[in-house]
Amino acid sequence: MFFGGDPFEHFAGMHGGNGGGGSRRSGVAARDVDTTKLYETLGVDKNASEKEIKTAYRKLAVKHHPDKGGDEHKFKEVSAAYEVLSDKEKRSKYDKYGLEGLGDEGGGGGGPDDLFSMFFGGSRGGRSAGPRKSENINHPLKVSLEDLYNGKTAKIAINRQVIVGESKMCTACDGQGVVVELRQIALGMVQQLQRRCAECGGQGYCATRKKERKILEVHVEKGMQHNQKITFRGMSDEKPNMEAGDINFIIQEKEHDLFKRKGADLLITKTLSLNEALCGFEWMIEHLDGREIAIKSRPGEVIKPEASSSHPFVKIVPNEGMPSHGNPFIKGNLYVLFRVEFPLDGELTKKKVYELKKLLPRPAMDISYDEEKVEVVHLEQADVKNFGKGGAVNHNNDDSDDDEEGPGQVQCQQS
Ligand SMILES: [Zn+2]
Repeated sequence: MFFGGDPFEHFAGMHGGNGGGGSRRSGVAARDVDTTKLYETLGVDKNASEKEIKTAYRKLAVKHHPDKGGDEHKFKEVSAAYEVLSDKEKRSKYDKYGLEGLGDEGGGGGGPDDLFSMFFGGSRGGRSAGPRKSENINHPLKVSLEDLYNGKTAKIAINRQVIVGESKMCTACDGQGVVVELRQIALGMVQQLQRRCAECGGQGYCATRKKERKILEVHVEKGMQHNQKITFRGMSDEKPNMEAGDINFIIQEKEHDLFKRKGADLLITKTLSLNEALCGFEWMIEHLDGREIAIKSRPGEVIKPEASSSHPFVKIVPNEGMPSHGNPFIKGNLYVLFRVEFPLDGELTKKKVYELKKLLPRPAMDISYDEEKVEVVHLEQADVKNFGKGGAVNHNNDDSDDDEEGPGQVQCQQS
């Protein structure tokens, strides 16, 4: 119904279908998390080697060691950062999901929470203040070039989960998200197992939820670009004890039959006959706002087949490109890339050639020669790729054909 069909049926289905706690929508949802803080703490680059990390840690550990009069808090930060970055698995999780990513290991020992509060002041949620955000959802939004030129408001229905009433701390796990089970494995031997709490799905909080259908008004502004984001803050799923994440619509510019776009410039391709290229042309285009524009050559204007070897011949209509985003009165340019079609073989009769010759500049001169002595030749079809492949194939050199070029060149340089 909007943007051709209703692409958001799919969206609503996908979005509403995810009820379980903690699972990641890989690919679709990208999270805005900090994945640099630990590197900054150690003063190393994000792609530092294991050795560089170790060296940086040792230096800082000595500098900040409390026994040597250093700052204890700083020392702890450095140690914690090193603990994560020196472990391959932990480092890769951190790179992907930030400190929160380290919490999914089964909620062990409060380590990640301590880390989190150490670096960001406040816990990852569950225990005290400092609400965590639920996942952001990115959804591609296909938009025609016409709509990006003119601007458009689309009403889009989404299904989201909302919490009814207050959420309560889970009584099964006391808000920890994990439960400890004791299991007797042999007489007198007990194993302690930590499991994700089934009652609250590992979130530590329980709440009554319901599905809510909501209509979002998405404003596609004039001149917006491919991959630009339109954000609805807090419109993602509500989760207990968390701030709701955002819904981002990511503009996906549809291809246009006539116009190609780069930044604020537009480009069209026009093929002219040789006649039009030499004698003048005029044609009509419909612009993206429905205006009809006649593009007409000036008297005597000549269009060439190419500007220089393999560079296309282009001209512009100034200020007929896309409006600039945020400043729609300033527009880019409309480029016209020309191709010139020459007449086909045999299309020019003797009479036409005679007329043309009289009209066009620099006609070829008739040359006089003795036909007894001079050989007259005509031209055949050819491909420039075959240049150099003429003559008889020399079978003696045939199998060393590939190697021939290398040594041959070397000899040339030496001589
Ligand atoms: Zn629980």
